[in-house]
Amino acid sequence: MLEIKEISRIYKGEDYELKALDKVSINFRKNEFVSILGQSGSGKTTLLNIIGGLDKFTSGDLVINGVSTKSYKSSDWDKYRNHKIGFIFQNYNLILHQSILANVELALTLSGVSKGKRKKRAKEALVKVGLEKHIHKKPTQLSGGQMQRVAIARALVNNPDIILADEPTGALDSETSIQIMDLLKEVAKDKLVIMVTHNPELAKEYSTRIVNLKDGHIIDDSNPFDGNEEREETDNKKSSSMSLLTSLSLSKNNLVTKKGRTILTAIAGSIGIIGITLILGLAGGMQSYVNELQDESFGSQAISIKNTVIDDQKLYSNYASNSNEEKKESSNGIIAVDDISNNATMNTKMATKKNNLKKFKEYMQNNKSELDKYASNILYNYNIDMHIYDKSNNNLITKVNPINGESAATTGFESLLSSGSILKDSFAQMLDDSNYELVSGDFAKNYNELVLILNKEGKLNLSTMYSLNIEDKSEIADLLTKASQGQKVELKDTEYNYNDIIGKTYKLVIGTDYYEKIGNAWISRENDLDYINKLYDEGIDLKIVGIVKIKDTGAASSYLGYTDNLTEYVINKTKDAEIIKQQLANKNINVFTGLPFDEVTTTYENNLKTLDYGDLEEPYTINIYAKDLEAKKSIKTFIDDYNKNATEEDKIVYVDELEVLTKTLTSIVNVISIVLVALVSISLVVSSIMIGIITYISVLERTKEIGILRAIGASKKDIKRVFRAETIIEGLVAGLLGVGVAYIIQLLVNFAVNMFAKIENVIQISPIHAIILILISILLTVLSGSTPAKIASKKDPVESLKSE
Ligand code: ADP
Ligand code: MG
Repeated sequence: MLEIKEISRIYKGEDYELKALDKVSINFRKNEFVSILGQSGSGKTTLLNIIGGLDKFTSGDLVINGVSTKSYKSSDWDKYRNHKIGFIFQNYNLILHQSILANVELALTLSGVSKGKRKKRAKEALVKVGLEKHIHKKPTQLSGGQMQRVAIARALVNNPDIILADEPTGALDSETSIQIMDLLKEVAKDKLVIMVTHNPELAKEYSTRIVNLKDGHIIDDSNPFDGNEEREETDNKKSSSMSLLTSLSLSKNNLVTKKGRTILTAIAGSIGIIGITLILGLAGGMQSYVNELQDESFGSQAISIKNTVIDDQKLYSNYASNSNEEKKESSNGIIAVDDISNNATMNTKMATKKNNLKKFKEYMQNNKSELDKYASNILYNYNIDMHIYDKSNNNLITKVNPINGESAATTGFESLLSSGSILKDSFAQMLDDSNYELVSGDFAKNYNELVLILNKEGKLNLSTMYSLNIEDKSEIADLLTKASQGQKVELKDTEYNYNDIIGKTYKLVIGTDYYEKIGNAWISRENDLDYINKLYDEGIDLKIVGIVKIKDTGAASSYLGYTDNLTEYVINKTKDAEIIKQQLANKNINVFTGLPFDEVTTTYENNLKTLDYGDLEEPYTINIYAKDLEAKKSIKTFIDDYNKNATEEDKIVYVDELEVLTKTLTSIVNVISIVLVALVSISLVVSSIMIGIITYISVLERTKEIGILRAIGASKKDIKRVFRAETIIEGLVAGLLGVGVAYIIQLLVNFAVNMFAKIENVIQISPIHAIILILISILLTVLSGSTPAKIASKKDPVESLKSE
């Protein structure tokens, strides 16, 4: 039973006040068919909306089953609308993007009925109104009368106590109107039906009670009720709430209806995701490439200890302390330019550290068994120049490997190469089959044996053949000239007869032999052709015994290689030379001039270097090759252990070049990816704003739907959920699209890069990043849609229903 007690509804504007209802009092029976008549604007709709809990009255009270609604919270009103009231409107108010069945189900969804029951009851309701054949159609595919039947089915499905119908036949022809009225009369058998109508005939024919309204007052009531006839229990039904699934399905259907826009928005939203995914993927790919480099390359497992190193830390602290001094000195505001540059040179000088490799080598040898556990190879280099001559070209003497600075002009000998790159000792790698592939002949073992090392294509370079006097010199010279003029040079036969090369000999000259003592000074006879010819004849034979190729990589250019036995041999020979003995005995006197060193252009150290002096106890460089990465760490510990017990002077500073390289590479990759991600994030912000705007437009477009949902009992929270669901779907679609496209790009790019650059998987998108980015996409769209969703939930239901 429903009691309306002196209810007023006043609309207040800035300059008007309108009493739509003025202290209206009326009671309704539990079961009757009431028609409300009255002119347009008399307050009929207002009264109906207030009874339905859709509109709020300004004063008075609405008593439901003896309970005042004065203390009702908005959730109570939602529950009331959902369980007690069924609304039927003149313009049907169906949700156009949902099927007939879904429209009817909606009210049940809000009351938390399970899915199976929901379908069954919705179908039953649709059967009752004669629409069983049309349940899967969309509202727009139905006639007006059929749509009104759907609305009636929706009003009935929750089995409410009260049906409120606002001009339900207003938009229908008379024949259809009669069908609808018959249906309502049927409904009214066990319910309270309150119908607003313009048609007094219909009212008279179908209803049991007619109420007349005028200017917000009841002016006539054909069957008044004092409210004392019945009493009934108040029931307590479950409060209504929309599940996430329902809101998702509502939004999904809406998004599907607006396919084009949904797709465009998703594309816009996905661009940033694509960008970030690819950048992270590329960074990941680079990182694993770098890691692989570290893991697999043999050379990478070398720790290189040089005789002189630049001590970074020292350099920095020197710089810091010097610049402090500078500040003090420059208090008068003037800085001498000279001082600054001097300081700079001093800084580097002070920061270079001489490694005592003599002490360290000793330590290595004393702890050889320990070191051998981790090291696959230990190579010592003494930085000794070799002087190799050849006479096979028309008996003309040639220096095969002119050393740094020597050229045809200074040596008087014909040469093509500017430095000694044609001849290398085994400094880089041990000359054996662990690093080299034997192409022909044997590996060099003895001091007087050489190998010819092919370039990475497994061939000999023209210039190498020229320098080594391997082929007919004039012919090769011809080809070389042509090549230098940019002409294409065709080799007659690139596969040389290796057997012809093997066995070829060269002469080695000991560097100290160039010098002759004249008076107090030692004079170089290096440019004296007769003298050199004599040295050539007395020289040591070096023979090519094999042809090899470096495994895996290989050098750009072919060259001759020799073993450290030769180095040792030369060091021992040189050590006994008279000139060396004299220089070692007199550290202050320059043997070349017989005068003291000036320490600027001439020094004791420089002289020893010029004379190819080496000390086997004191290497120039030590390279320790680790068995694997784990062993490399142990070798570092080995060095650290040595350092712990060494004096400050004797401490060893070493470089793990690959580690330095990979660290630098990694940090470069990181910095670049951070910058790129930051840049691309801007597009994410832009797309978020766009999605916010689109959600707002959607709110405007779905205002009517908001009204309908509120009328059938949806709470403000439910409305918020509907729009949040929409943004969740948009974000999910954008994220999936973005990640999907990124994976496709990864596939294509990796394929192309592998084909052209032979690098595998440059882009490696990690699944974790992909998932996180999809979540970020959802989070961003939800955030950007939260304001529009709030706006939607605050909309007044009555106003919303009026919108188109
Ligand atoms: P009916 O349904 O009988 O045609 P209504 O109940 O819709 O009449 O309206 C009653 C009166 O209240 C009318 O004068 C109408 O102009 C006014 N009214 C209705 N809604 C509003 C509103 N939101 N703001 C101001 N006045 C309104
Ligand atoms: Mg009206």
